[in-house]
Amino acid sequence: ADVPVPHGRNFLMVPGPTNVPQRVQNAMHRNSEDHRSLDFPKLGKTALEEMKRVFMCTRGHAFIFPGTGTLGWEAALSNTLSPGDRVVTVRFGQFSHLWADMMQRLGLDVIALDVEWGEGPQRDIIERLIREDTGHRIQALCVVHNETTTGVTSDIPGLRAILDRYRHPALYMVDGVSSIGAMPFKFDEWRVDLAITGSQKALMLPAGLGLVCASPKALEHSKRAKLPRVYMSFDDHLKSNADGFFPYTPSIPLLYGLLEAVKMLEEEGMENVWARHFKLAEGVRRAVAAWNLKLCCRDRARLSDTVTTVMLPPGVDGVEVVKVAYQKYNLSLGAGLMSLRGKAFRISSLGDLNELTILGALAGVEMTLRDCGYRGFQLGAGVAAAADYYQAHAVQTRGFS
Ligand code: PLP
Repeated sequence: ADVPVPHGRNFLMVPGPTNVPQRVQNAMHRNSEDHRSLDFPKLGKTALEEMKRVFMCTRGHAFIFPGTGTLGWEAALSNTLSPGDRVVTVRFGQFSHLWADMMQRLGLDVIALDVEWGEGPQRDIIERLIREDTGHRIQALCVVHNETTTGVTSDIPGLRAILDRYRHPALYMVDGVSSIGAMPFKFDEWRVDLAITGSQKALMLPAGLGLVCASPKALEHSKRAKLPRVYMSFDDHLKSNADGFFPYTPSIPLLYGLLEAVKMLEEEGMENVWARHFKLAEGVRRAVAAWNLKLCCRDRARLSDTVTTVMLPPGVDGVEVVKVAYQKYNLSLGAGLMSLRGKAFRISSLGDLNELTILGALAGVEMTLRDCGYRGFQLGAGVAAAADYYQAHAVQTRGFS
């Protein structure tokens, strides 16, 4: 009886899993079907084609694995590389750390460039490595597009240009788990070889799909690559996918949900989806400035539009902020991860959100900051700064749910 019953909807402001729109929930609410039936390939083929459109890929293949982003990392690496292959990667937050750790554990020869958290990949160091690698020992350059830990993005076309400048044949792998479908990402145009995402982020689905897009060059590599893989074998998938099937039982509700989610993104228009994410994130950033707090991301050009990592002043505990927001206001904020634990918290602007959701969340953050002893702002200042911006900037947004 002492436990308060939360009323209203939980404000899910973590950068994945994100809200599942009602339309997507309805699309998934169905009985099981025979995944070997004559009718199944219509669903299978459409889902595979639609995923390519999300990646903005026309030539390669989009793989749909039961799994999450982490499985997507492993699928991309294990299908295209061999034990001992040299790979270059950049660590600038928890996810890029975990991916580099996976590369090491798979037996690759990893050059991991450490960047101070809050900064993005340093072009000059990558450029030197590529320039000096005249013997082409480096087999892959692996970069996280949107570091969900720090809210810092990488310049994906800019890093591609380095490989081009030195005619370096390394595969270009990009983790777009918290960016693809929410921020500009152009697989063909940027000549990415492998891109990875997961269903529970911009695609507004539950977790459960690991999505990997592979270029023709990556598919070529997969014929020679010697790292072991079975469940994630590109080859097995390509054989089944050719007829619209999967090599093992797919999650049929998630496939129906995927079709509906992509339909919604296309109805809105990808450019509008990107503009909406920018606008929502910009409101959050203005609120942070009005609270007299600092962003983790130090370079304005590298700001994420899907997650904002807010640094807390000494004496204000980030673990407490996340706890109070949840327990007192039914508001789920992202915690500070690894070295940012207790020192920062994260506000998502990813997925099925609108201006009013963000304003409500910002009000919750303000009350929470007060509760946690931070008094460096007038209550309402952040909400007003964001509202001011939203009111003046009319990107047409439509509620999905
Ligand atoms: N990469 C990034 C950038 C992420 O944000 C995440 C999860 O938040 C992952 C990879 C791991 O994805 P998953 O939790 O779906 O395995």
